[in-house]
Amino acid sequence: MQVYLIEDEPLTLVDTGVRSAASRIALESALDELGYGLSDLRRIVLTHAHRDHMGLVETIRSVSPDLECWVHEADAAVVEDYGQAIRDRIEQLSSLFLEHGVPTAVVDGLHADRLAGLAVDEAEGEATRVTRRLRDGDAVAGKRIGLRVHHAPGHTPGHVLLEDEASGVLLTGDLVMGQAMPHAETCYLDEMAMPGDPARRRPRFRGLVEMRRSLRRLRGRPFGVLLPGYGGVLRRADRAIRDTLLYYDVRIQRIERGLRHLAAMGQDVTVYELWKSLFPPDEAPGPMRSHLLLLIGALDCLEEDGAVVTERREDGVLTHHHR
Ligand SMILES: [Zn+2]
Repeated sequence: MQVYLIEDEPLTLVDTGVRSAASRIALESALDELGYGLSDLRRIVLTHAHRDHMGLVETIRSVSPDLECWVHEADAAVVEDYGQAIRDRIEQLSSLFLEHGVPTAVVDGLHADRLAGLAVDEAEGEATRVTRRLRDGDAVAGKRIGLRVHHAPGHTPGHVLLEDEASGVLLTGDLVMGQAMPHAETCYLDEMAMPGDPARRRPRFRGLVEMRRSLRRLRGRPFGVLLPGYGGVLRRADRAIRDTLLYYDVRIQRIERGLRHLAAMGQDVTVYELWKSLFPPDEAPGPMRSHLLLLIGALDCLEEDGAVVTERREDGVLTHHHR
């Protein structure tokens, strides 16, 4: 995990690491090498509301009471209500999988497995007060350095990038990383049906569609260096951006082929049927959950591209076919 210090007034940290003794010690010793302590920090800017990025905000605030905490407005609610927000997302996941044809017993197994992991979320993350809700185009200004906020949703709804236009440096959070690929979040936005959607779906944050759009917007921009949340310093910026896009393009194409193959047998298929045709039947709950979410995200992208039509069956389950 990489966090970044902006040596300026106010002394600003971008992301914090998880809430743990080891993470606090690592941060303290890194600051110490530069001649600072935790209590010198005046402002935290979060690239997004994941525990590894926000876990230490309260710890830092306990020694720096006037600490500012800035995060994009679309992620602020998760930061301020962390434990409940994670629980809500876990419950939503079950509705999402049921709606995509996963049998109840399988959904129950996935749910139980995810609940077992909740203890880690709650240990390593902590709700904290947000003092400023950022929007696209805002500035993170100091006396000497000014960063531009770019809203780049996908990994989370409120993920931001921070650009130092003077030096061509872009802090990419978890949107572009070294030696790792970001996952895209998907979550329901509220209880109302989407107006005009024949399948009457609940509005949903379509993370992979959003992430693809955020990455495409970065292509060809003249960044000198990318500073990610993981994986070192990325000096070949455009390549790292294109590699991330390519990683998903390849998977979306593979899923499209799978859908075509099943469609050739005259079927409208569910996400669960696609999963059965593309992934091993004995998958552990973790990978299965990721793959189901990847399938849902890929179908969102294919629908966005006009390649796939989604309909709702009489039993309420969503089915898909290739155009
Ligand atoms: Zn993240």
